[in-house]
Amino acid sequence: MNRYPNKMKIKEYRTQFIQELTSIYDAGEAESFFYLILEEKKQLKRIDLALRPELDFSEEEIVVWNSILEQLKKEIPIQYLLGKTSFYGLDFEVNESVLIPRPETEELVDWILSTNRIIQESNPETSGLKILDIGTGSGCIAISLAKNIPSSQVYAIDVSERALATANKNAELNNVNVTFINQNILETQDLKQQFDIIVSNPPYVRNLEKEEIKKNVLDNEPHLALFVEDNDALIFYRKIAELAQKNLSEKGQLFFEINQYLGKEMIDLLEKMNFKKIELRKDIYGNDRMISCHCEERSNRI
Ligand code: GLN
Repeated sequence: MNRYPNKMKIKEYRTQFIQELTSIYDAGEAESFFYLILEEKKQLKRIDLALRPELDFSEEEIVVWNSILEQLKKEIPIQYLLGKTSFYGLDFEVNESVLIPRPETEELVDWILSTNRIIQESNPETSGLKILDIGTGSGCIAISLAKNIPSSQVYAIDVSERALATANKNAELNNVNVTFINQNILETQDLKQQFDIIVSNPPYVRNLEKEEIKKNVLDNEPHLALFVEDNDALIFYRKIAELAQKNLSEKGQLFFEINQYLGKEMIDLLEKMNFKKIELRKDIYGNDRMISCHCEERSNRI
């Protein structure tokens, strides 16, 4: 008796899988999901399937794939289904307690790293930077900075214990040392140390922008990491900037990811607080997305 009466050629399953998803996703995206799962579950790439058209799925595999398919139909993000994603060329574990790292945030990391490179070149004895990431979530910012500035000491705060557990695993996975701290930044009076870089991608989506947010984000990603009240959208930025006034080293630099509609408001906030060298940057989509500033007018190191 055949124990696997329903085994099926992977190529045939692929056609069916993509077809079932095309009412929700475009065909290219559905196809990319198929290959991401294939790589994760069977360590097979597109080329393997082309070279070995006889490959098939067992009945058990079909059960697993069908369940993933059902969840994709419900628009659960593929990153949560696979439990991982990549950010700045590194692997990160993700789950519903952390935001899925975004490409815009990679641009922020890139800005920090290129600033650091310029400083290092003009001032080679600069080392041992102290970096603080506030609202670290999966740890993507803190960990990619620690990985790319090996001489730095990196600290990361989050209010969510579950997020920190994930961030901790990610630090291990990427072989870096980050000190994680469970703390509510809105209730923090003092950061207790001086930092050369303070960075944050805090919650910044206003309730009034909920309509713009995709269903897969709204239904699955942690609202704690996303939303702020319409009447006080910059609450985290104000608090973090206040802490930075006390706890940013003399030549230190503050970096934020921001709400694309609040670039001007962010400049106003930082100017009023007497920050200098304020620079607003756009992301690859042309939206105001990140801002940086210093405490001092003249700074020749971070
Ligand atoms: N950029 C994220 C989004 O569009 C929001 C991130 C945040 O609130 N910090 O969903």
